[in-house]
Amino acid sequence: MPRDAMVISAVILGLIAMVPLAAAVGGNNASPFTSRSGGLVQTIATWFGADTMIESTPRVPASRAADRPADWPLYSKAGHDITPLPDAKVQELALSLTPEQRRVLLNAGTEPAFCGDLLDNPEHGTYCCRLCGLPLFNSRHKFDSGTGWPSFDRSVDPDHVRYKEDRAHGMVRTEILCARCNGHLGHVFTDGPRQTTGQRYCLNSASMQFFTEDAEMPERSRPVETATAYFAGGCFWGVEHYFEHKVPGVLDVVSGYQNGHTDNPMYKQVCTGTTGHAESVRITYDPARVSFRELMEVFFWIHDPTQLNRQGPDVGTQYRSAVFAADEAQLEEARRYVKFLTENDPRFKDRPIVTQVEMTERFWEAEEYHQDYSARHNKACYIPEWRGVEPPAILTGAGVK
Ligand SMILES: [Zn+2]
Repeated sequence: MPRDAMVISAVILGLIAMVPLAAAVGGNNASPFTSRSGGLVQTIATWFGADTMIESTPRVPASRAADRPADWPLYSKAGHDITPLPDAKVQELALSLTPEQRRVLLNAGTEPAFCGDLLDNPEHGTYCCRLCGLPLFNSRHKFDSGTGWPSFDRSVDPDHVRYKEDRAHGMVRTEILCARCNGHLGHVFTDGPRQTTGQRYCLNSASMQFFTEDAEMPERSRPVETATAYFAGGCFWGVEHYFEHKVPGVLDVVSGYQNGHTDNPMYKQVCTGTTGHAESVRITYDPARVSFRELMEVFFWIHDPTQLNRQGPDVGTQYRSAVFAADEAQLEEARRYVKFLTENDPRFKDRPIVTQVEMTERFWEAEEYHQDYSARHNKACYIPEWRGVEPPAILTGAGVK
């Protein structure tokens, strides 16, 4: 697209965003939610090729969304549970430490140079936190610094190490701590190898436990075993946002296009309502913290499963309500839950649930600009108002595990 056209289209889209949203609303809900099922916004976006002109932004995993409560589970990029451990748990783990390990890890001690048992370790493998087991460093990043302490040019995952200014002994240094148990590890300096990161992570052997590459890591040193769920409940912006920001135990949520007849669909194709895809979300979750049943409770709370091929102002088969089961167990559980709601929930006494429950076949990630859309653009999507019915416990904070 010519540069002038891009500027004009950006201005027009900006102006459209300022128009009262009620103007774009159709159907039986005169509420301020954006309609994406057609109309002016989509038409102009199509004229100017908006699908490809909007810049992409790096994704933020759900578990690290800024507005999540501090006591919710937190996961690293590598998929480890890095929720800070409570003091009582740290003290319990510390019972297994030697006096030297305790001095270093809990009291920010430093072992004498050239004395640590991991300094000259020639083996390939992973160095984990001696206290809580979180993987910290890998032999691939170890180098001989000549200082007398094990040295690495980076951590295995930036999320696994925490940094703190240390003004002890008349110096200003950067202390490194385990992100999960807050155990003292050592310091990081900027005189590392220039050909790589330039960083020198200077470690105490006493802070770490080494596992060779072929060793089986203990459970506490492995990524959490996650599960996947897929839900379609109208505009995927809103469904994605809700699961990302309101549900503890969710690691990540991606907006996409589910099932359908064509490969690698684009938004403009799905918008036509003829490709058979549903706008849906793929949720990666920690079953130890939140169950599939609890996810379904949220799903049936944040959309109206009685609306056929629509959700509020958005109309078309791409906005249908569906649970796409990842396996037979989910399929059975979803069918049982719909039956349970039908027979017991006053919301559905006179309005039958039309949600499709079927196996997932294919999920295509939507274009980058659809991801985290609500958070980045501060836009709400249609959410039904259920009166006289208690919200699911997982949404009220009562379900945080
Ligand atoms: Zn630790």
